[in-house]
Amino acid sequence: MKYIGVLGLQGGVEEHHHLLAQLPEVKSIDVKYISQLEEIDGLIIPGGESTTLGRLLRVFNMLEPLKQKVLAGLPVWGTCAGMILLAKEIEEETTKHLEVMDITVRRNAYGRQLGSFETMQQVNAVEKAIPLVFIRAPLVSKIGEQVGILAEVRGEIVACKEKNMLATSFHPELTTDTSFHHYFVKDLC
Ligand code: GLN
Repeated sequence: MKYIGVLGLQGGVEEHHHLLAQLPEVKSIDVKYISQLEEIDGLIIPGGESTTLGRLLRVFNMLEPLKQKVLAGLPVWGTCAGMILLAKEIEEETTKHLEVMDITVRRNAYGRQLGSFETMQQVNAVEKAIPLVFIRAPLVSKIGEQVGILAEVRGEIVACKEKNMLATSFHPELTTDTSFHHYFVKDLC
């Protein structure tokens, strides 16, 4: 059995639990306290609003302990706002959050209101075409040497991986396709 946490402070938390519940040998845990990081094999940071999520992590004194856990090897997957939290650089912003992944992100890269869209695309990590849902999504404008590209849409990086860290601009939890969750659990956790 693998225990997968979903950071339960804000955003699309339930949607991740819903997809994880469909995977065999996986139990999902709502993570609200830093002590719970000891109980999990991997953590998903959901989409939502990165500024709010960052603020809540600071208010609850979770930012630094979570950062240290990820640096020590805890597998982590950030979707959308979660990706922004993981990034070492955020374009045009001075406040960064966990700063663990060697990527630069551009927030709301497809526009703030009308920037939501869906596309079907082959993703080699899951060995098939899957629906990719973007909601006021960031893109990755720069990557470090250790970062591997997992998916590109319209010529821009929208999924990447570095050691124990995975980041996607899109939201597999808003589809019925469990393959990206399966990939995270199987390959990283
Ligand atoms: N636009 C949001 C942000 O910048 C992210 C949107 C999302 O997570 N769906 O934090």
